[in-house]
Amino acid sequence: MVIILLGPPGVGKGTQAKCLSSDLGWAHVSTGDLLRAARREGTELGRKAQSYMDNGELVPDDLILDLVREHLAGLDDDRGILFDGFPRTTAQADGLEGVLSDVGRSVDAAVVFHAPEETLVKRLSGRRNCPECGALYNVHFSPPEEDGVCDRCGHDLSHRKDDDAETVRRRLEVYQEETAPLIRWYEEHEARQVLIEADRGVDEIQAELRTELGL
Ligand code: AMP
Repeated sequence: MVIILLGPPGVGKGTQAKCLSSDLGWAHVSTGDLLRAARREGTELGRKAQSYMDNGELVPDDLILDLVREHLAGLDDDRGILFDGFPRTTAQADGLEGVLSDVGRSVDAAVVFHAPEETLVKRLSGRRNCPECGALYNVHFSPPEEDGVCDRCGHDLSHRKDDDAETVRRRLEVYQEETAPLIRWYEEHEARQVLIEADRGVDEIQAELRTELGL
């Protein structure tokens, strides 16, 4: 199966994708994670993407589609795929159809996550991660025992630069302008849609997602 997870930044797509993909052995394709890895490695793509990401703007479609094409070429043909944060524009959705049809596949369902804006802002601005061991925290919902320090490995926690208040506002605007129209796009392309109310606990959402998708 190929499933895309749609929804604004901070709605919990990444968390749900991680749970589902690790349980089912599916590929989790997060273009945000791939871009951050490219930046850490200092690749040409990473350098090109940097200013867009830091300003909360979208990285150009051609760069994203090349990245996804290259990443998919390295995956087993028969593995389920969960796309997280991709596609983000109708041009990317068109591009994805082409890439998938080349390997005889297509999108089976689009999951649309929704949460009130104040929840999204709180989740994003409170988000902290451990650059050493990958543990995730939120200062509002799941704080570490000691402020700014990872419970698991003791390393200092970091805060994504694009999770500051001003960039978060811009990312939410960009979502409304560029990505929300994809909900309509998938309706018109008759892909199955699943709507998930995401202002709830991780486990509850995960259970509903699996029931809805029959997984
Ligand atoms: P995310 O981790 O999905 O919130 O993505 C972080 C940032 O990476 C976004 O604000 C964009 O600048 C960039 N990005 C990630 N995925 C895409 C995409 N599919 N299209 C364009 N830009 C993207």
